[in-house]
Amino acid sequence: MGNEVKTKVLVVGSGPGGYVAAIRAGQLGLDTTIVESERLGGTCLIRGCIPSKALIHVAGKFEGMRHAAEADDPLGIRLSEPPTLDLSKTIAWKETVVDKLNGGVGMLLKRAKVKVVPGWATFSDAKTCTVTGSGEPVTITAEHVILANGSIPVELPNLPFGNDILSSTEALSLSELPERLAVVGGGYIGLELGIALRKMGADVTVVEALDRILPVYDDQLTAPIRQWLDAAGITVHLGTKAMSFTEGENGKRLVVEKDGEQLEIPADKVLVTVGRRPNTKGWGLETMAVDMNGPFVKVDDQCKTSVKNVWAIGDLVGEPMLAHKASAQAEMVAEIIAGRQRHFRPAAIPAVCFTEPEIVSVGLSPDEAKAAGIDAITGVFPFSANGRALSMEGAANGGFVRVVARGDNHRVIGVQATGAHVSEMSGEFVHAIEMGAVLEDIAGTVHVHPTLTEGFHESALKALGHAIHI
Ligand code: FAD
Ligand code: NAD
Repeated sequence: MGNEVKTKVLVVGSGPGGYVAAIRAGQLGLDTTIVESERLGGTCLIRGCIPSKALIHVAGKFEGMRHAAEADDPLGIRLSEPPTLDLSKTIAWKETVVDKLNGGVGMLLKRAKVKVVPGWATFSDAKTCTVTGSGEPVTITAEHVILANGSIPVELPNLPFGNDILSSTEALSLSELPERLAVVGGGYIGLELGIALRKMGADVTVVEALDRILPVYDDQLTAPIRQWLDAAGITVHLGTKAMSFTEGENGKRLVVEKDGEQLEIPADKVLVTVGRRPNTKGWGLETMAVDMNGPFVKVDDQCKTSVKNVWAIGDLVGEPMLAHKASAQAEMVAEIIAGRQRHFRPAAIPAVCFTEPEIVSVGLSPDEAKAAGIDAITGVFPFSANGRALSMEGAANGGFVRVVARGDNHRVIGVQATGAHVSEMSGEFVHAIEMGAVLEDIAGTVHVHPTLTEGFHESALKALGHAIHI
């Protein structure tokens, strides 16, 4: 390859933003180079979405078996002894899933004729970077630069990562299960991983600074999770700040402050999940002279930065910090560079929280519709009246589907659900909103029986005043 590369499109970062941008650019015949300092796949594939969902899957299986051994299981399944978990094997299995997808990304990049340059890119001006860390330095100059540098975990100054203080990355590769785990931050990662580790047998306590968990979702949506946390024996301290981690005669403790008083929570490990911040330091962003939007790189609705032919996508450019948003922006930017007319104006970006139970939210909630001055109607259908949910134990803890529509023309503007496996319904919800469906479209669509999707159909019927099954 030599020490100098000239390329039409340079992509920095191979997460779901960067690798998708590179593949699409390659498909469109653009001479494309991608730089990545770690394994191909980024946060999502290597230390985020995929490994966390693999562990959540194992945790769910293990918990089901533990119940069968503990009590008189109503399903009639009997295990004579409680199951055991070989965490090192679990982690090794998770790695096989990651490896397979990592290999797949490499293969897809190759097929799209994208050059992969391993190493860390440091920019000296907006179109030139030097890649170091893997053999001889390589200097790359490009006509177009797509920045997809992603995000990193926020560290608390009084609880720096290292030893017993874990970020999500370490929590996904534990060598043994902590007996007692304190989770600081009751948001996406804290609850997804806290719940999984509880199911595997750890004693989990959650410390959340605000007065509610999962603050991006409303109370009705999080109620089933709160019920599950209570039943599973996870203590949640709301309105509480983590102060320090100490080790004394009484063992290791997380010191927290709640209502002006200090509490000590016994904890062998502390998982800090208080958000992520854009990865803007240490690679010469300042030399590129792009405008910023607070901590994020500022972009318009085509993901153009303030510098010509420098584009930015994914976690680097703002909320929501979700993999599918990064990929959608990525495809668009590659197509614009290839001459197509595109804008990033989705009607809604769906979000799923893989907790117990799961939450899906697309578009506006009833409160958000009200705050936007929309006179909305809402239909809620409980999974306790859905045959499929009942027949797979998915109706516990009060799951439901909720549709929100404009009162005047019945246009669907939001759909939310909570319950087992509702993540798989997110596609139908977002499709309805993106295609401009009205309640009558959902009501007039034949949904398969018995499936959870009938809950969506019934929620639309409910909003129209004639639900069948409630
Ligand atoms: P990233 O995936 O962060 O990729 C950026 C890449 O750029 C990295 O590989 C980094 O090494 C590389 N890089 C940065 N700077 C340089 C440089 N100078 N030179 C070379 N390489 C560089 N989102 C979901 O939608 N669903 C989920 O279920 C979900 N679960 C998650 C679970 C966890 C535990 C975590 C941490 C995150 C999760 N996310 C989830 C969020 C998701 O991972 C991110 O939104 C997504 O990865 C962002 O993609 P990106 O391409 O913008 O950046
Ligand atoms: P988050 O923003 O979801 O939650 C952080 C939580 O920490 C909030 O509830 C916040 O109030 C709390 N907090 C902040 N400072 C605190 C402090 N000092 N003490 C106690 N609590 C404090 O962040 P996260 O869980 O770290 O996840 C980061 C991002 O990764 C998410 O916002 C999301 O974009 C992405 N993610 C998505 C998924 C998914 O799509 N299923 C899963 C995991 C992560």
